[in-house]
Amino acid sequence: MAADEGLSPSFPDLASLTADTVPILISFFDKAHVCRFANEHHCRWYGRTPQELTGLHMKDFLGHEAYAERLPHLAAVATGCEVLFEAPVPYLDGTWHDAEIRYIPQMGSNGFEGFHILVVDIERQKHRFRSVFDGTALGFFEIDLVGLHALLSRLQASGVDDLVAYAAADSVFPRQVLDAVKVVDLNKKAMEMFQLDRASAAGRSLGDWCPDEGLETWRKVVIGYLSGLPSYEGETVMLRGDGRLIDVLVNCAFPKRMDGQVIVVVGVVDISKRLENERALVKAQQELAHAARVATLGELTASIAHEVNQPLGAVVANGHAALRWLTRAAPNTEEATLAIKRMIDEATRASDIITHIRKMARNSDSERTLFSVDKVVTEALAITGRQLRSLGANVVLSLLSDPAEVCADRIQIQQVLINLLVNAAQAMSDTSSEERSIFVRSRLLDNHVQIEVADTGPGLPQEKAEQLFNAFYTTKAAGMGMGLSISKTIVEAHGGKILATSGEEGGALFKFTLPRAVCDINAPISVLPPSVIKAQDPGRRSAT
Ligand code: ADP
Repeated sequence: MAADEGLSPSFPDLASLTADTVPILISFFDKAHVCRFANEHHCRWYGRTPQELTGLHMKDFLGHEAYAERLPHLAAVATGCEVLFEAPVPYLDGTWHDAEIRYIPQMGSNGFEGFHILVVDIERQKHRFRSVFDGTALGFFEIDLVGLHALLSRLQASGVDDLVAYAAADSVFPRQVLDAVKVVDLNKKAMEMFQLDRASAAGRSLGDWCPDEGLETWRKVVIGYLSGLPSYEGETVMLRGDGRLIDVLVNCAFPKRMDGQVIVVVGVVDISKRLENERALVKAQQELAHAARVATLGELTASIAHEVNQPLGAVVANGHAALRWLTRAAPNTEEATLAIKRMIDEATRASDIITHIRKMARNSDSERTLFSVDKVVTEALAITGRQLRSLGANVVLSLLSDPAEVCADRIQIQQVLINLLVNAAQAMSDTSSEERSIFVRSRLLDNHVQIEVADTGPGLPQEKAEQLFNAFYTTKAAGMGMGLSISKTIVEAHGGKILATSGEEGGALFKFTLPRAVCDINAPISVLPPSVIKAQDPGRRSAT
């Protein structure tokens, strides 16, 4: 033991030996900012021994300017808080090295007595970081959160307990945060993306590049930070140096502890091109859908003329009848009134058909309303009735006994049904089979309404079932191959699914679902069009 004591240093010696050996600056300053202890490592940084440094004021180490910059941190440590920050520290060769600096307060019975300082040279780490930072294809902003922390402290001091709730509710908070957060640096890619140079960007608020239209994403970023998430990613718009807006994906990796690291990096990816392409694709799809609608209309012209002709014929017939009742020797006003009422009903029916057709031809945005699925089935049958008959198809209907309502774009759902009905009739028209029936069924499946259109045509080869929904897939000489592709887009946009399979009746079976809306059980059950002859079975089965 005695030998051991002679060989190894005692604990206090060991502590000071360690303090002198580790390649970091360790010192202690009193509350007047005068050095009371400095380890040996100071010789390498300042070229002066610990003995020479002890008794010196901090400004003599740093110079007036750097000392003035430390004052906010010195004020913070005097309140008993540990402070961590990065700043340049002078070297004996006259250069300044970036360092990570930690102030650790020493509190005695009379309060603050002084503080320990740990300084780690991070110049090499910074160099490595800089080469990655500048070399990457992602834009990076290095930002300083000191201003944000000060803002949060002020809010807490003013009585805000729940910062997350405050951040979620306060309208001006995201703007205040972005103005408080300062840009320390940005990499080459960010300079290119935002058309900025380092010198003009550094020191400015991040908010200078964040317009009001993108603030909600930043609100979520701050909420993520305050809730302790490791990172947050979201899309927003930012302003370039030339004042143009760009769509960006921002990714913020948050420090592990809010009171620690204050410099964080925000990654920015320019997604304007991608979004532009997506928008162009949606526009092209809308235009194609419109073209297909107009094309469908062309095919249906004969059917429409017939549908409109029927009520017009009835108007004329009832008009003549009314005239006859009125011009009799003893005019019968009661019968004439009934005939005129029928005229009004028939004229309204013709006008409804025209309104539907005009809506289909108009390239308008989707308009969702609440309606009964059965009603839209009967409307689609009324529009296609003549065409289906001319192709030799008869329709067998099996609709829900309860009216099931959906909240959807009625014209678009009508278009899906028209596509399926006309396809079924066309598929059967090529067969020699006597039986050419289209079975239209609706049923409830949990929270969905399912509509089926089955036929007795040649059916579908199973391996083609998915391909049918691809744009431009057609087996018809004059086909466009757009009907099913558009139908799929429409159904999926409504939160439903569409699929093709083989039906029990031997032909193809197409079924699609739509989410069911809250159902009004008092709504009247839909009335079938005159072209559909009701069958006598209990499930409201009808046939043309
Ligand atoms: P188009 O009718 O212009 O060909 P669609 O997208 O509506 O375009 O249909 C694509 C293809 O799907 C059709 O060409 C046909 O081969 C097949 N198809 C659609 N419906 C049926 C059906 N009921 N029976 C058999 N094949 C069908």
